[in-house]
Amino acid sequence: MSTKYIFVTGGVTSSLGKGILSASLAKLLQARGYSVTIQKLDPYINVDPGTLNPYEHGECYVTEDGAETDLDLGHYERFLNIPTSQANNITTGRIYQTVINKERRGDYLGKTVQIIPHITDEIKRQIKFLGNKGKFDFVITEIGGTVGDIESLPYIESVRQLKWELGRSAMVIHLTLVPFLSASGELKTKPTQHSVKALLENGVQPDILVLRTEHNLNDGLKKKVALFCNVAEEAVVQSIDVPTIYEVPLKMKEEKLDITVLKKFGMTSSKEPALDDWNHFLQRLNNPKQEIEIGLVGKYVELHDAYKSIAESFIHAGAVNECKVRLRYIHSEEITKRNVAEMLSGLQGVLIAPGFGHRGIHGKIEATRYARENNIPFLGICLGLQIAVIEFARNVLGLQGADSTEMNEVTKYPVIDLMEEQKSVTNMGGTMRLGAYACEVKKGSKLFDAYRSELIYERHRHRYEFNDKYIENYIKAGFKPVGINPESKLVEAMQLDGHPWFVGVQYHPEYSSTVLKPSPLFVEFVKACKEIRANL
Ligand code: GLN
Repeated sequence: MSTKYIFVTGGVTSSLGKGILSASLAKLLQARGYSVTIQKLDPYINVDPGTLNPYEHGECYVTEDGAETDLDLGHYERFLNIPTSQANNITTGRIYQTVINKERRGDYLGKTVQIIPHITDEIKRQIKFLGNKGKFDFVITEIGGTVGDIESLPYIESVRQLKWELGRSAMVIHLTLVPFLSASGELKTKPTQHSVKALLENGVQPDILVLRTEHNLNDGLKKKVALFCNVAEEAVVQSIDVPTIYEVPLKMKEEKLDITVLKKFGMTSSKEPALDDWNHFLQRLNNPKQEIEIGLVGKYVELHDAYKSIAESFIHAGAVNECKVRLRYIHSEEITKRNVAEMLSGLQGVLIAPGFGHRGIHGKIEATRYARENNIPFLGICLGLQIAVIEFARNVLGLQGADSTEMNEVTKYPVIDLMEEQKSVTNMGGTMRLGAYACEVKKGSKLFDAYRSELIYERHRHRYEFNDKYIENYIKAGFKPVGINPESKLVEAMQLDGHPWFVGVQYHPEYSSTVLKPSPLFVEFVKACKEIRANL
């Protein structure tokens, strides 16, 4: 079949869950046997979110091919269990950069380069690129932002053109909000009507409306929306708030969103979506046998989106262990030697989060020391491993002032440092190790218990590395490498002897955790947290 294109736009407010809606529809289509990919178009001018402060836009999600992307791609992978790539996340910055590069090369042969057709052509090329590969039955393209934003206009115009060019092979799903006014006890459809008007002003008639709501919508209300917005009644779909995002595919199935989509494309599907594995996961998630609390120590804790993939990995790993994992977000800047015991009290495990720069480092070091000395299961991710290395140098190896050169360029003991070949590259981001790399796992280690494999691939996003010069000091004192990159011999994982569970990894296991393939390291960590504290 020829590739079908589904565009997901949003109206009324941001944060309605276009990403989750796209992922849920994709899941249902995938469960019906179709191949599906999801793409996100972001209207900001940054070329990618790699340079964005997590406070602004949440976590930066890294794909296997090393692209720094929007966190929605994490949802796509977690739902679909297939990898995404650079092609799945396009920003206005990237579009303009490509067009301007072409202009400088003279590709436009002296023509005036304009938003229409040149920018819109480039947007359309990026959308169709995924379909052209011929691998996918459906390409779902989520348009970031809200209809009516100035910066979204070129995208909406591209959608209009593609709808016209592709005819029945393209459709638009518009997600809006139906607010509930508690004072009058009413659900209001006017914002939806206005937002559809805004789309229509740009020449785009939505095919399906998904209405986000806190209360059930009655048929009368749906009928009214259908009439005012020019869509079939069956194409007005309610999306009610649910306790977990992983229930949204089931809700959309109840609402027959997948069937309506197939029908609109003139397709039929007699079978039911195969969701046994998904339901099995939900069954375990919703019926935990016990509960544990793990401390997530980081400096962006006010915005939970900054650690999205870590939080989701704990949900997946918790379900495997039939254990509800509560996360206590702990601000690393608030931890001191004096209050650390109190701040970590009652926790079954401690995770030191990834991060950049020196802010909050001291608190992370104290939390790590406390976990190490008190036999609390510990997982350090990326900067978290580096912190464990620094803490060990200072408090066990006696290397006073040991540090990462990221924090202190002139430290006497640079236990974490740039590698020689990186030192000449000054361009920010230029030296970053990004994407999936191989790691040899030492047999008999906790890492091996988790992965049950001697060779794994995990994703990276960092500049600094464990400094090989000190390796013997660490091995002798019992903090040992258990994961090594087979080509570069860089240390990818370390484990502490004599501690019930103390592991640090230079890579990011959270990026590859999905509902159907939870991260083995998170599963093992949760298992350790569950068992070890209980037996202390
Ligand atoms: N700042 C550290 C580095 O660049 C760690 C990065 C991270 O935690 N992702 O190496």
